[in-house]
Amino acid sequence: MGNIMRNSFTIISFTALLFASSALPVSSQAQTLQDQTLQEMIAQDYDEHLGALFDHFHRNPELSLLEHKTAARMAVELRDAGFDVTEGVGGTGVVAMLKNGVGPMVMMRADMDGLPVEEKSGLENASVATQSDPITGNTVPVMHACGHDVHITSLVGTARRMAANTDEWSGTLMLIVQPAEERVLGARAMREDNLWLRFGKPDYALAFHVAAENEAGKINVTEGSPYAGADTVDIIIKGVGAHGASPHAGKDPVVLGSQIVLALQTLVARELSPRQPGVVTVGSFHAGSKHNIISDSAHLQLTVRNTNEATRKILLEGIERIAVNMGRVAGLPEDMLPEVIISEENVPPTVNNPELARRLRAAWIEHIGASEVTEQPTSGMGAEDFPFFTVDPDIASVYWAIGGTPKEDFERAAAGGEPVPSHHSPLFKITPRPAVTRGVESTVVALMTLLKD
Ligand SMILES: [Zn+2]
Ligand SMILES: [Zn+2]
Repeated sequence: MGNIMRNSFTIISFTALLFASSALPVSSQAQTLQDQTLQEMIAQDYDEHLGALFDHFHRNPELSLLEHKTAARMAVELRDAGFDVTEGVGGTGVVAMLKNGVGPMVMMRADMDGLPVEEKSGLENASVATQSDPITGNTVPVMHACGHDVHITSLVGTARRMAANTDEWSGTLMLIVQPAEERVLGARAMREDNLWLRFGKPDYALAFHVAAENEAGKINVTEGSPYAGADTVDIIIKGVGAHGASPHAGKDPVVLGSQIVLALQTLVARELSPRQPGVVTVGSFHAGSKHNIISDSAHLQLTVRNTNEATRKILLEGIERIAVNMGRVAGLPEDMLPEVIISEENVPPTVNNPELARRLRAAWIEHIGASEVTEQPTSGMGAEDFPFFTVDPDIASVYWAIGGTPKEDFERAAAGGEPVPSHHSPLFKITPRPAVTRGVESTVVALMTLLKD
């Protein structure tokens, strides 16, 4: 650890006295003058630069794959910070390198896309941006409804701190500005643009997500899987069409499809170990055209979630077995059994390297404070495309969360007030200052911990 965070016992008590009644964030006793200095530097940078930059990004969100202005601004910011910047990697992706002597290479990623959501947060800097949706061709409102504006603003803050303190670390820092996370396309596109071949393969890969469900500024890190792996599955069911009043003359794909939907529920309930998370959701069921016609086909669309390959195998093989055999139960001939199509566009689970997670957690506790670091397991099975950077070949990685909602908002919600809006909601809002500054601080501490010769 370099000077800006090195333990210096002679000044700890002095520091504690000096800052005891100041407005600085309250942290652990173990914090040193250097840690306080880092916080002060980040706070000052927020006032002078990062706050306005966040405001700019929040007002100007761009849809996945269309992040041209965001990427261009990020390139300018990172170049100004002293990084060697390459644009247009995997579409609108940006890679910024800072080589600083011998040592490991560490990658930090920030995703930059917004969502087709109309902002109704009521904030003064609410987005009124629109773009032509590349999927539908319609003009749609765009909003940073997932907080990726926090990620990119923090990345700039991290770049500026790391470049200003090159005597405190040794190695190579790789900053990744990633497009199209919301469509889980960007990380893969950057990898397929020969990312490691062109810029080198990092020894460690890091990322964080701001979390509306966590208290502003808190760092949450687990040794498990913060994000699930996801598969997209289609089940095509064939039937024999008939008059609705003569069901015996046909094979009803609506009834068969319904049986398949219910039978699929047994996969998680009866085949996965009860402590093993998994999800099989049939999100779409399409069949038929009229009240009194038995259709000749049905189409189910599923999302299937896992946190490891063993679970994935049980679920995907189970879906195939159930769908095909329910066709046999319905008396369909072998050449008409339901067809299960597993999309190649799957996402592996995000799995934190346990040793690395423990190491960073210890560094955060030491330099930021135990009260600021939590270890809450993830409750949902949301997916991320970050693992495209960290698997095949495997790179030790940690993905953490930075809380983005003030404590008072949770207390108000618990007392029956306005609920805290979730990510992707039109009401979504992050309190940027604690989220961005802690995003920078946690990243700089993590990088300083890893970047040593
Ligand atoms: Zn999102
Ligand atoms: Zn997100």
